[in-house]
Amino acid sequence: MQIENHLLKTIFENTPVGIVVLDKSGMVQYVNKYTEHLFSCNKIELIGETLDQFVTSYESGPLWNELVENFFSQDSPEVKVTIHKINTDDIVCIVNSVRIESCDNIITLVFRDVTSAQKAAEQIEKKNLEMAKMNSELIRSNAELKKVSELKSNFLSIASHELKTPLTSIKGYSDIIIDNMRDKLDGGIYRMIESINRAADRLHGVVNNILDVTRIEQKRLRLRPEMLELKTLIDDCIDELSQFTIQRQITFKCHYPDQIPYFYCDKMRMQQVFTNLFSNAIKYSPNESVIDVYVSLEKKNRFHIIVKDHGIGIDLSEQKKIFDPFYEVGNTNYHSTDFSKFLGGGTGLGLSIVKGIVERHGGKIWVESQGVQENEFLGSEFHLLFPVQSEISWDDDETKSLYADEPEISIEDEYQEMAEENVSILLIDSDREAVEISRMVLESVFEIIVADTGETGLHMAFEKRPSVILIDPYLPGLDGYRVCRILRSQEDTKSIPIAFFSAGTQKDEIHRSFICGADDFIVKPFSGKELVEKIWRLLMKKKEVESFR
Ligand code: ADP
Repeated sequence: MQIENHLLKTIFENTPVGIVVLDKSGMVQYVNKYTEHLFSCNKIELIGETLDQFVTSYESGPLWNELVENFFSQDSPEVKVTIHKINTDDIVCIVNSVRIESCDNIITLVFRDVTSAQKAAEQIEKKNLEMAKMNSELIRSNAELKKVSELKSNFLSIASHELKTPLTSIKGYSDIIIDNMRDKLDGGIYRMIESINRAADRLHGVVNNILDVTRIEQKRLRLRPEMLELKTLIDDCIDELSQFTIQRQITFKCHYPDQIPYFYCDKMRMQQVFTNLFSNAIKYSPNESVIDVYVSLEKKNRFHIIVKDHGIGIDLSEQKKIFDPFYEVGNTNYHSTDFSKFLGGGTGLGLSIVKGIVERHGGKIWVESQGVQENEFLGSEFHLLFPVQSEISWDDDETKSLYADEPEISIEDEYQEMAEENVSILLIDSDREAVEISRMVLESVFEIIVADTGETGLHMAFEKRPSVILIDPYLPGLDGYRVCRILRSQEDTKSIPIAFFSAGTQKDEIHRSFICGADDFIVKPFSGKELVEKIWRLLMKKKEVESFR
């Protein structure tokens, strides 16, 4: 028995938890050795004292005295407390009470030191809180970025649309002067007009590039895929650039495999890809250098195309960024070394459009270059991987005409035929410049009626019954779409061919026009020939329909 007592005492004393016996008034009757360590006091200092001077509940719970009362009550709770020390850090303990049967007037408390676990939990909680904050910040800035990007795309789309309308006038007037007034004008003035015409073409190119970038960003790049011969496509693109290659004595060497399967792609878009890559290769290469084009067939279902130049190369740090819209490699010194001439400033849009088109075809593009060394041409390799049969389906594009597949007819025949009939065209457009251009182009062949609002347009349509109606969708008051719907709903006007003419850059603009009942959509800026052609096709279609009745 004595041995047992001794054993128990030794265990009590040396166990790594604090054991404290309190009487009903909360006075300490017994403490083990570990308690001395927990409270940084010796037994003599603790026995006969209450612990309220050392212990408080953790995080402002009940007072120690109240806790002691609870320990004596039946439900012996587990509580978390802080032990305050004078010279060292406070510690956190979990306290459990153990009641001993037949000893109602005392209670045994077990203090477990959980300071490190508590600190770790607090750290984790703090980190979690920080992460939650960062997360919500990220979500917020992501949403903001998305909004900014949408605003930017919309802005670009609207700005380009607004540019296209005045461009129609500049291009239209200068076309008319160049075609008809060569002999009547002073040579200097004529050359200036030619310059204006070229500048309008360049600006038109830039506007179209911006529109392509926004189409790609808004995932609305439409394709019209067809089966094509890749070799012919590449050779044609190289031929188109011959004025530059001849001037710079640059040679293209193409390496084709013996058998090349047909490539299912959008011809116009793919031409854009190769023309961009080839003209960059020319632009950044020294005179008299060679540009290699390798085409190989991987596993019979993928084309691997490499455009390899021996030009200025691209720094490693720039290789990913050059595919971003509006990005141009900063150091233009390299663009204008003694050896290679920088042929005209770019806009930094070409490669981003190329990437968008390639990816839209289910392909990949990347660049490999050893970087840039002053006065040394390390060259660049642009790699393209395309599925031979990409999973793209026929998709309407913006310049689509309902009659696109019909055979070409010479413009002279068209004029002849139309001049014989008494054809009248109603133009409903509030843009005076655009009306003037259309009038100049059309009035030698047709009778032109003009209305500058939707309401007058409707009135004239009912009164004059024109052969064709051209409507700008953006009219003040009654807009073009509503005008078209009304015309389609009335017996007298429902079979008159209607075409919308607009810059056609707004999302769904073309789609909306067709839904309202339009027969065609003419994209501004249009050439005179294009306009006459469209009107003629509309008239032919009407005749065809009437002959079936
Ligand atoms: P840009 O209209 O300026 O040519 P791109 O998007 O086509 O715009 O090209 C972006 C940038 O990538 C260019 O400004 C040029 O610095 C770099 N780059 C493109 N192609 C080549 C090339 N073949 N060799 C060297 N640099 C190139």
